[in-house]
Amino acid sequence: MISKTSILDAGLKPLQDWITAAGFPSYRAKQVMQWIFERRADSFDTMSDVPKRLRELLAQEWCIFTTTVAHHDISPDGTDKLLLTCADDRRIECVLMAEDDRRTVCISTQVGCGMGCVFCASGLKGVVRNLTRGELLEQVLRLRNLLPPDERLTNIVVMGMGESLANLDNLIAALDQICSPQGLGMSQRRITVSTVGLPEKMYKLAELDRQYHLAVSLHAPTEALRNELVPINEKVGLTAVIEAADAYFQRSGRQVTFEYVMLSGVNDRREDALALAGLLKSRKAHVNVIPYNPVEGLPFERPTPDAIRRFVDTIRAGGVSISVRKTKGRPIDAACGQLRRRFDGNEPLRVLEQQPTVGS
Ligand code: SAH
Repeated sequence: MISKTSILDAGLKPLQDWITAAGFPSYRAKQVMQWIFERRADSFDTMSDVPKRLRELLAQEWCIFTTTVAHHDISPDGTDKLLLTCADDRRIECVLMAEDDRRTVCISTQVGCGMGCVFCASGLKGVVRNLTRGELLEQVLRLRNLLPPDERLTNIVVMGMGESLANLDNLIAALDQICSPQGLGMSQRRITVSTVGLPEKMYKLAELDRQYHLAVSLHAPTEALRNELVPINEKVGLTAVIEAADAYFQRSGRQVTFEYVMLSGVNDRREDALALAGLLKSRKAHVNVIPYNPVEGLPFERPTPDAIRRFVDTIRAGGVSISVRKTKGRPIDAACGQLRRRFDGNEPLRVLEQQPTVGS
């Protein structure tokens, strides 16, 4: 079987070249892209103003999506989660969240993850590979296509499976397309890239002069504790991560968010809060606390609401801006790596009862 070329991987230019070589004017390529990005086409035969012969030729050689939907979970709080099977049978996951006027997608950047954060489900089996630019775009488009016709995506968070900056080139290529007028025309400022904190890549990102919001997964205020929770820290060091975050802020003018997953009895003590406030108070930074989503088989627990409140109050009293992330999609394992794990484990594939989304 001859495998087809992915339009989303290839981009406009190769498609234009192919279309002109096939004897059609090159503007047809833009028209095809417009169908995919603006008009939500997921097959060539719906592209009614493209000549039928060209649609047939395209369908023989090109494909729009390379993944198939292995599972679609809908949570009552307005969260859709897709488990996608890639062409090489690997599984990736992505989520659409609806809240008030926001329609946010959360995408994965890798199959698995190589960072090994001890509380996270994504890295339990290591990293398999980077996702291609097309696979990154496809997650966004598949989720966007679930929205009612009159709704648009408002935000993207790169917080799914994988270390975003370990796949920086493909990620930037995909996000550039999303933000271009020929893509979804989304503002760079509405895109958040979350990283474990790879200083070299953070400098590189800063030099690219984009306006992305950078979120750095700090999770601990001291080298010793961070080494325990985020093993890559032994190589990079907390100080270097903070310096790189400062550099990103200086260059982009965008305030950096520090993510802090709260693990009961591990990093939620008063001394942790005091140390964190001490570390960040001289900076224009924001802390986003993520109450832990328990992962089966891992020895961590979410702190009580009281413990979270105490932690937040201490940070605030220390003069640092802080918020607590709302947990959405719990019934559908919407934390990174959790859905894939359920399906990749020994558990038989079970289709959850699908419930209608609320408010969308
Ligand atoms: N590799 C990127 C993206 C990871 S996912 C990064 O490290 O930032 C986004 C955030 O979710 C990270 O801060 C990650 O540490 C956190 N996270 C992972 N597993 C979690 C869990 N079970 N509960 C809550 N947060 C989790």
